[in-house]
Amino acid sequence: MTQFATQLVHGVEVHDNETGAVNPPIYNSSTYAFSSVDEAPRWDYARSGNPTREFLERQIAQLEHGFQGFAFSSGLAAIHATLSVFSPGDRIVVGANIYGGTYSQIHEHFDRWGLDFAPVDTQDLEAVERALQLVPTQALYIETLTNPVLQVNDVAALASLAHRYGAVLIVDNTFVTPYLQQPLDLGADIVLHSATKYLAGHSDVIAGLAVAKSESIAHRLYFALNRLGGALPPAECDSVRKGLQTLALRMDRQQSNASPIARYLLAHPLISVVHYPGASEAGKALLESKGLRGAGGVLSFEVKRGVDPSIVVNNLKIFRLAVSLGAVESLAELPCRMTHFEIPREERLKLGISDELIRLAIGIEDVHDLLADLEQAFTLAAKSERPSPRQNRVSTRA
Ligand SMILES: *Cc1c(COP(=O)(O)O)cnc(C)c1O
Repeated sequence: MTQFATQLVHGVEVHDNETGAVNPPIYNSSTYAFSSVDEAPRWDYARSGNPTREFLERQIAQLEHGFQGFAFSSGLAAIHATLSVFSPGDRIVVGANIYGGTYSQIHEHFDRWGLDFAPVDTQDLEAVERALQLVPTQALYIETLTNPVLQVNDVAALASLAHRYGAVLIVDNTFVTPYLQQPLDLGADIVLHSATKYLAGHSDVIAGLAVAKSESIAHRLYFALNRLGGALPPAECDSVRKGLQTLALRMDRQQSNASPIARYLLAHPLISVVHYPGASEAGKALLESKGLRGAGGVLSFEVKRGVDPSIVVNNLKIFRLAVSLGAVESLAELPCRMTHFEIPREERLKLGISDELIRLAIGIEDVHDLLADLEQAFTLAAKSERPSPRQNRVSTRA
């Protein structure tokens, strides 16, 4: 059995390539010929399956240690297909701090289809247990690291709680990737990805992946992929495959850039809080205790009251002002105005997403340039600072 970084480069062969080409072919064919009506070919119609997609699906199943993988036209299509395997009346306990698009899909779509969602703080295992105990529950749905304040969820503990009460555990592993943790090994039953982010890694494709641990769940996910029809087209499958080849390299660089940036922010007089568990020994111990091999390349921080965070993000030159994360280029955004603007302010504040919070997605540039870019933006923001009575709060809270 080869090691993870080797698996990233080579994938699992589909045995369709007779030319010796080192990259798997992109098959631009919607249909595949039968040799006779009695002999159905391995692939017949490209929505149901095709060799380019199968290469990627086998690859993600291998990397996540699952039974079978599925490639969807977006992360939200993967989440939609997964939630569609449940039936009206089923109850799903959901992490209170999940991706905004998932939150909206749940409340503006699946609520109408009769699924019953109950939010819970997944950091509070007693609260999770109470939610599961209360009423028979079919699933617990969580994200490994929460966005944007990077709380570290305990996948193993949440899996055993879910299973104790007869629920499956669904984990959105987008912020972590199988390079840093394989949730199925810790007891999860389904892993989901927005492959748009770290896995593809170049901000050039929208894609989603799902991996099932068991054959019975795989069977239901395959039906949802094929019959709801949100499959990822061959060229996009190849973009994700190519991105995956450099996942470990990119993530290593993103993390080795993120640590000094987090330490710089912690020491900066304009900044009150930094959220990045990879920056301190205590944070690293916390990550390790929850089975994570790193903190990834996203961090967030609050500027002190009186400092206008929009001046900071508007004046960054190397960091692009954009949503999304996990790609080669560094991005900055203001969650209260961009990724999390749909959440009512009161609720947002409860999740730790203040008006002063800035999220950075660290890329693979030279870290000196990234630090200099932040420094010049802070200098501009300091010039327009308004006096504030508030004290500095310094924390490395995970
Ligand atoms: C971006 C994202 C999604 C949605 O994925 P798309 O590819 O944009 O549809 C889901 N979950 C998380 C954690 C994300 O960051």
